[in-house]
Amino acid sequence: MKKLYTIQIIPEDSAQVKTYRINRVWFKLFAWLICITVILFCVFIWKFAEINMQLANSWKLQADNKWLMERHAEYESAFSDLDSIYAIETQIQNILETYLENDSNKIRSILDKNRLMHISSQKVQLDTDFEAEINLNKQNLEVFPNMLPVIGAVISQHYSEEHKAVDFAAAMNEPVFATASGKVVFAGDKGDLGLTVEIDHGGITTLYAHLSRMSPTTKRGANARKGDIIGYVGNTGNSTAAHLHYEIIINGINVDPEKYF
Ligand SMILES: [Zn+2]
Repeated sequence: MKKLYTIQIIPEDSAQVKTYRINRVWFKLFAWLICITVILFCVFIWKFAEINMQLANSWKLQADNKWLMERHAEYESAFSDLDSIYAIETQIQNILETYLENDSNKIRSILDKNRLMHISSQKVQLDTDFEAEINLNKQNLEVFPNMLPVIGAVISQHYSEEHKAVDFAAAMNEPVFATASGKVVFAGDKGDLGLTVEIDHGGITTLYAHLSRMSPTTKRGANARKGDIIGYVGNTGNSTAAHLHYEIIINGINVDPEKYF
């Protein structure tokens, strides 16, 4: 005898009852099929959710990637700008080098100074050196004949091969100043030059000639300070009018005094 299940469907509005007879084996098979379908459906939903999550993650990564790509492009552009700046700098250096070869230390000194301005330790050293140089210059200036030996006088004769001095036309007995500090190495009559004073400033010597008289302190071996009155304008020696004959001698060689004041 076949084992059967009987399923009856009874509609509310009708008296007609529908009756189905199903083989038990088929019913069981059908029940299993339903179960498996439900399980598979659940697995599918779960996997679908998982895939969706991964998809969302992937979209986020894509967005991040895009952002990074954009930043990368910006960096690339910046690097390329820098490259062109370096190229220009090299060109400028080359141009300046050309000038340097032609001439001046001026550009080099500007370049060096600018370079040092950015390097604090070297700048400090530079400032220190500069200060030392100023002090040295102050000292040097004291023994450097860079002032006029007479005030308000006009030059009556310039320096030349025949006349290695400058003549100042000045009134008789105008004061004559030591143009730098030093030691009086000569004070007396010097033939054609008349009454003459020579002062040694250490390598540089100044000479003042045709004086009418000397200051009482102007004696051989005495020290003269820059700006001291050493004597007075006169007309002694081979001279036709009151004037000061002024020489600067560096290491035994006469130089044009006009280049010094
Ligand atoms: Zn002269």
